[in-house]
Amino acid sequence: MKGKISIDRQLCKGCKYCVLACPKGVIVMDREFNSSGYFPAKVETLEMCNGCALCAQMCPEIAIVVWKEEEQTEAAHGS
Ligand code: SF4
Ligand code: SF4
Repeated sequence: MKGKISIDRQLCKGCKYCVLACPKGVIVMDREFNSSGYFPAKVETLEMCNGCALCAQMCPEIAIVVWKEEEQTEAAHGS
């Protein structure tokens, strides 16, 4: 099972809680302002995400959505 996340950069207030919470180092801070004048969080290494949702739980702005996806392995079928 792999995780995926989406960060709403316009909702983000740049608190970095998600960066500190992520055990996989998936999230970094952007160097470009959002429309509110904050440096928002952004996804850096999505392939590392395990879908634990710690980032979303920490976010005070509810700017992060997390979901899990079955890995696409045809070989797993029919066994
Ligand atoms: S769901 Fe977990 S692994 Fe994925 S970005 Fe959030 S804290 Fe990191
Ligand atoms: S926890 Fe939420 S508000 Fe804070 S930096 Fe991460 S996405 Fe932005």
